[in-house]
Amino acid sequence: MKFRKYLRGSGRVLAFVFIASVIWLLFDIAALRISINDVNQDLKEREMVLKQGIRKDNIDDVLKYPLQKVNVDKNDLSKNRDRFERKVNKVYRKLPKARPESQAPLKQDKHLTPMLMAGNSFVEQNEEINQSKFNLIMNSLVKGQVISIPEKINKTKTVNNKVGNTTTKINKIKAAVNGQTKANLDVKAHLLTKAPPAVQEMHSSALKENSVKKVHHINDGTVVMSHNEAHADAGLQKNLSNELLKPAESDKLKNIIDSSKQKAQDPAEEALQVLHSTSVLVRRSGGHHKVMALDVTDRPRDSRAVGQFGQPARVPRDKELESRRRWSEGFFNVYLSEQIPIDRAIPDTRPQICSENLVHDDLPSTSVIFCFVDEVWSTLLRSVHSVLNRSPPHLLKEIILVDDCSTKDYLKEQLDVYMSQFSKVRIIRLKERQGLIRARMAGAAAATGEVLTFLDSHIECNIGWLEPLLERVYLDRKKVVCPVIEVISDKDMSYMLVDNFQRGIFRWPLVFGWSALPEEYIRKNQIKDSDPIRCPVMAGGLFSIDKRYFYELGAYDPGLDVWGGENMEISFKIWMCGGEIEIIPCSRVGHIFRGDNPYKFPKDRVKTVERNLARVAEVWLDEYKELFYGHGYHHLLDKSVTNIGNLTEQIELRKKLKCKSFKWYLENVYPDLHAPLVKAEGLIFNVGTRKCLVFQNDILFFDKCDLTNKSQHFSYTWLRMLRQNTSCLVPQEKQIIMEPCDNTKPHFRWMHKSGKVLTEHVMIEGHSRPICLEAGVKADGIFLKDCDSVSTFQKWQFTHYNAE
Ligand code: UDP
Ligand code: MN
Repeated sequence: MKFRKYLRGSGRVLAFVFIASVIWLLFDIAALRISINDVNQDLKEREMVLKQGIRKDNIDDVLKYPLQKVNVDKNDLSKNRDRFERKVNKVYRKLPKARPESQAPLKQDKHLTPMLMAGNSFVEQNEEINQSKFNLIMNSLVKGQVISIPEKINKTKTVNNKVGNTTTKINKIKAAVNGQTKANLDVKAHLLTKAPPAVQEMHSSALKENSVKKVHHINDGTVVMSHNEAHADAGLQKNLSNELLKPAESDKLKNIIDSSKQKAQDPAEEALQVLHSTSVLVRRSGGHHKVMALDVTDRPRDSRAVGQFGQPARVPRDKELESRRRWSEGFFNVYLSEQIPIDRAIPDTRPQICSENLVHDDLPSTSVIFCFVDEVWSTLLRSVHSVLNRSPPHLLKEIILVDDCSTKDYLKEQLDVYMSQFSKVRIIRLKERQGLIRARMAGAAAATGEVLTFLDSHIECNIGWLEPLLERVYLDRKKVVCPVIEVISDKDMSYMLVDNFQRGIFRWPLVFGWSALPEEYIRKNQIKDSDPIRCPVMAGGLFSIDKRYFYELGAYDPGLDVWGGENMEISFKIWMCGGEIEIIPCSRVGHIFRGDNPYKFPKDRVKTVERNLARVAEVWLDEYKELFYGHGYHHLLDKSVTNIGNLTEQIELRKKLKCKSFKWYLENVYPDLHAPLVKAEGLIFNVGTRKCLVFQNDILFFDKCDLTNKSQHFSYTWLRMLRQNTSCLVPQEKQIIMEPCDNTKPHFRWMHKSGKVLTEHVMIEGHSRPICLEAGVKADGIFLKDCDSVSTFQKWQFTHYNAE
């Protein structure tokens, strides 16, 4: 009773409030614990990242969306394949989908503008490529169009001459930069002041206070030189004086480091001097050293910065609209990219052994070529900084930025001024849009390094990326090498791993893709995850090639327009003319794969790419070009509609280089490609008469089937011709005759086993009503009749079908 009294009136309210508070408190404690756990977890992760530069074993914990480790569920291979394909699609180079064979050809563009053909720009084999040859090539390439190549940058002069008052200009840019990103404000402002190449400026006062060496060794060998901690000597000593340096050389190295320490005005400069002198020293030694793991920063990294360590960045609620609005500037999250430090750290995703690998001391130098058109400011800068910061300076001859006639204002003066602080960066501006392929050639023609390294303008080079590439070229100058292309998410800009053992391959009709080496093969051959992987084709965006070899190969076909197909062209050319293509797992570069291009195709995108591919097929595929056309590109054979341009020079080049056949390529480089020369072959059996078709003494008739009789052998080609030797079955009024085959003539084409209906029939293509091939009831002739789905006299079978 007493208790009930308490629950009456205001007492009841009080009790309720009390119980609610207790529950609330309990919830609160639980939430607090969860968030404490979160924070701890977060801290732990960060610590781990900081300490280890991210260990490979833990990568899954650190990266939000790891792409690595597709578990092979042996019981469910098909499911796994599905998953794999989905993932692989992400890193496919976008190509317009070829239309299914059954579909009518697309409307053709009647206003194909004549393509710009450059002159013959290849260099005689073994010919020395000197500057005048470069100029010649470049001139022939751009035919009278002016390309301005800023002189080696004398900053004051260039800036003053070009933009008048430097300070005003820089301030203007600072303001623009400020407007774009708050997080990077001080970093960018800092970068606008003078800085030696590759390592950003460091305040000497700060350094005096910091004369104690403070080099972080991340990941057991990575040298992070930072703004206030710039004495690199300890790191470099550790890095360079490995067991292979003889004691005398180690002493010499130490002397150089000591003397440069005394002389140095600017410790960053000092770091460079050390590197340079070291390289000279080690070059003379003719020895090896461990791959350098440089990661130069202009100041200590802010571990809380957006996207730091390659972690996913998030758009705040109130910025979602802005981020969505700005997506189309680059077809990735442009808003987030601007929040991320220009020199952010990314996880060192190399296989463990890579940091221990030895490379030669006298590797060739490289020119890094970035072509771009309307690239987003922040990604272009991040690309350039990743090269400057993570490449051994003595190996980086220069960075050439080729502006393929961008329309954005910020890519003009603002870019000139920004880049003028880096003496290694040169900008080439094309006066007319040339497309990626010719832009690369303009970059190559201006390059002075021994090796050309082409990169897309929205990448981040990872630690130790360069030396493993150059090492392979050093070992064999005909090796053309690609880094592993990792994925920078277009949505949250996180850095993601890709699967190991991926090869660049293609499927018909020349569609690029990735395919994992079979596990069985890896096991049998004891392939390590750091071993170079030979690839039938390269993805195309990122690779290094010996410059002289590039020109010996005739560079790219300059008749290729804008984008697409050039990776196929150079790949076939390399393999068939004596070279090799490899992916080097110890070299890793992140790339933003995006769903669309932020630039326009002067002509229709699909038509541009298919025209490029047709050029490649005509020059390199020999008789296999039928497989290309036969997989949805029949319409390209109509020369009155598609003008693929003049191929004489390319064909001549192939002869001159004495390149091998495509058959050789298939047998030796890509034997796992299914490439039957015809769709079906053998005897043509008529179901109704139970007889086979014969072509003998210019007459078509039926006879008892006989595999040994050559006159009964026909093939059904990829271009849908019914062929015997060089003669093809052709309708003539209601009759059928044999005529010399002509791939360009649509009325020579027959439909068989294509589509969903009348699959056993042989139907005329492109007729208004279905007309089919029919055998006379007494096997006394072959005619054209209206198709009848049940008539067995209209049903035909080949002995072998090579493809559906
Ligand atoms: N590019 C160029 N001119 C063009 C098309 C592309 O300079 O006409 C540049 C582009 O800015 C990029 C590179 O070529 O740096 C490769 O293009 P994209 O990234 O669009 O190709 P994807 O990576 O999608 O294959
Ligand atoms: Mn790209």
